[in-house]
Amino acid sequence: MARVGLREWFAVGRVMMSGRLARYGGGGEGPLTRFEADYSEKFGVKHTLAVSSGTGALTCALAAAGVGPGDEVLVPAYTWIATAAAPLAVGAVPVLVDIDQTLTMDPADIVRKITPRTRAILPVHMANMVCDMDRIMKIAREHGLLVIEDACQAVGVTYKGRRVGTIGDIGAFSFNQFKNINIGEGGAVVTNSDRYFARARMYHDVGAIFRGHLDNDNEPHFFGVNLKASQIQGAMLNVQLAKLDPMIRRMRKHYRLMSRILASSPAIRVGPHNDVENAVGLHLIFESPEEAEHFAGRNRRGVYRLYDSSRHVYTNWVPILEQRAAHPKMNPFAWASPRIEYTPDMCARTLDILRRTCRISLGENYPSPLVAFIARRMASGANPARRLSYAV
Ligand SMILES: *Cc1c(COP(=O)(O)O)cnc(C)c1O
Repeated sequence: MARVGLREWFAVGRVMMSGRLARYGGGGEGPLTRFEADYSEKFGVKHTLAVSSGTGALTCALAAAGVGPGDEVLVPAYTWIATAAAPLAVGAVPVLVDIDQTLTMDPADIVRKITPRTRAILPVHMANMVCDMDRIMKIAREHGLLVIEDACQAVGVTYKGRRVGTIGDIGAFSFNQFKNINIGEGGAVVTNSDRYFARARMYHDVGAIFRGHLDNDNEPHFFGVNLKASQIQGAMLNVQLAKLDPMIRRMRKHYRLMSRILASSPAIRVGPHNDVENAVGLHLIFESPEEAEHFAGRNRRGVYRLYDSSRHVYTNWVPILEQRAAHPKMNPFAWASPRIEYTPDMCARTLDILRRTCRISLGENYPSPLVAFIARRMASGANPARRLSYAV
């Protein structure tokens, strides 16, 4: 989680005093334009569009790519509910895919879940853990599918030297309070496609034709919703963007430090990673759910069992599992054919992994010696012999 401080306070103050708070609230370029240019450059992508949230970014990306009614979108069974809700917002339905021990979509299960109606894969780089993008892109190309990356929980993280979110056709980011860039609420869409970018701008600005969003594109105008970010968000984004890479470097360093110390304990197994050289997400996988529960219970601060952070487990996405929309006639499940069936045990392998896995905070805001101390204490506490002596 990124910290917010005085520099953001001053940046926001300047925007307030300027009187220009809205995206299109005055001539010339504002903080949002600068952020989008800097983000594109830093991330090595052609276009960035700042929006009001990560959920908005996902929805905008799907609309820009033309995903809609009749389409199935593959989403992982372990993610924030927004990943599954975004396809529904454009009329498509989510189809759940198991995760593997990297905590991201299992490419083998992606292949199993593809049907003639599958339109897109929505891989999620969960908890700063990157997906197996080489295999996902290969599967997508072989089956003619779009790849829309949900990089909301991995802003700035790299996969084999490329920033996640820039590898697929379109990427979505969140800048809410719990993400690597924190402005309270915010998001962005990135793409190398001129057409998707034009359509994303059109969609995110209710179809405001006079702003020329589709000027360089041979598309008829279409309406959308309002997902615009404000210049206050832009001002904070510029300050937070400068803090991003130093924070990721600290996380990478702490990953190496902690994973080495933890792996030295025979009772601990550090989870696999799709790009271990650049890893910035640390998880431990135990033999049984009880062991994971015990480890989390004993360490508490900065450690939790994934199954217990229940909001990310598909079995708790009640409105989606029960297929209920705000209006029954605007319910994509009603027009999905054949019907989509969800059951609590449809991704049993995901549940098994989540029950046996603990996530460890990398203490990105702590000094390294403290982080090493915490890891050593965790490692020695996990020693079965030591546990026995405590119990006596
Ligand atoms: C946070 C998050 C989102 C949505 O972001 P908001 O900005 O809260 O709308 C989407 N997907 C994942 C995986 C997230 O963690």
